[in-house]
Amino acid sequence: MDSLKRLKQEVWRANVGIYRAGLVTMHSGNASGIDRRCGLVVIKPSGMDYDKLRPVDLAVTDLEGRQVEGRWKPSVDLPHHLYLYRHCPDVGGIIHTHSNYATAFALLGKPIPPYLTAIADEFGGTIPCAPYADNQGNHIGEAIVAAIKSSHGRVPAVLLAHHGAFAFGPTVEAAFKAAVMLEDVAKTCHLALTLGKPKPLPTSEVEKWYERYHTTYGQKQKPSRSGC
Ligand SMILES: [Zn+2]
Repeated sequence: MDSLKRLKQEVWRANVGIYRAGLVTMHSGNASGIDRRCGLVVIKPSGMDYDKLRPVDLAVTDLEGRQVEGRWKPSVDLPHHLYLYRHCPDVGGIIHTHSNYATAFALLGKPIPPYLTAIADEFGGTIPCAPYADNQGNHIGEAIVAAIKSSHGRVPAVLLAHHGAFAFGPTVEAAFKAAVMLEDVAKTCHLALTLGKPKPLPTSEVEKWYERYHTTYGQKQKPSRSGC
C-alpha cells in the first residue's frame, strides 16, 4: 500500500473514531493527516456525514490548500490544519472537535491545569487555552501555535476560547488519542470542580509521570511532542 493510500485509511479511521467516541455532533469537527514526503494533506470533506464517509471521499490538498484529489471540497477548517502543519514540522495528524467537556473549559477561556496524573502523562503539563480567534485567514492557526509556544512546547492539545479544541501528534493515531484523552480528563476535572477545589500536581511530579509515560509505558511509545 503506498503512503498516501495508507494515510487516507488512517484519516478515515480517525474521522470515524471521533464520531464513534462521541467527540463530534452532526458535521462538526474533522481529522486530517499529512504525508510529509509528498507534501500532501488528507482531510475530511466539508459538511459530510461521518457514518457515510469512505476513504475515497476524503479531500487531498497540498500545503497551500490546492486540492489535488477527491470529488468533495475540503473542510472549511483546512486553513487552520495547514497552518499547524507548516509551523509544526513534527505534527503528522490533527483532530478538531467541539467535544462537550473540553469545550466547556474553552468557553470560559480556562486552561486545564495538571490536576491528574493522566494529564501529566499525556499532556505533560497545563492544557492551554488560546484566546478567541475569528475564522478569517490564519487567525485560528496563529492562536494555536502561539499557545503551544507559550506553554511548555510539548502539549498535544490546545483549547480555543469560545470554540473547541485542537489535538495533534506525530501521527493521526496519536492525535486521535490526544483528542480522546483530552475529553476524558476534561470530564473528570469538571466533575471534581463541582465537588471542591482540586490542586494541580507540582511540576516535579508532572515531570516524573510524563517521563515514565514517554519512556517505559506500553510496548512501543514515542514522545508526542508538538514540534513547535
Ligand atoms: Zn470548530
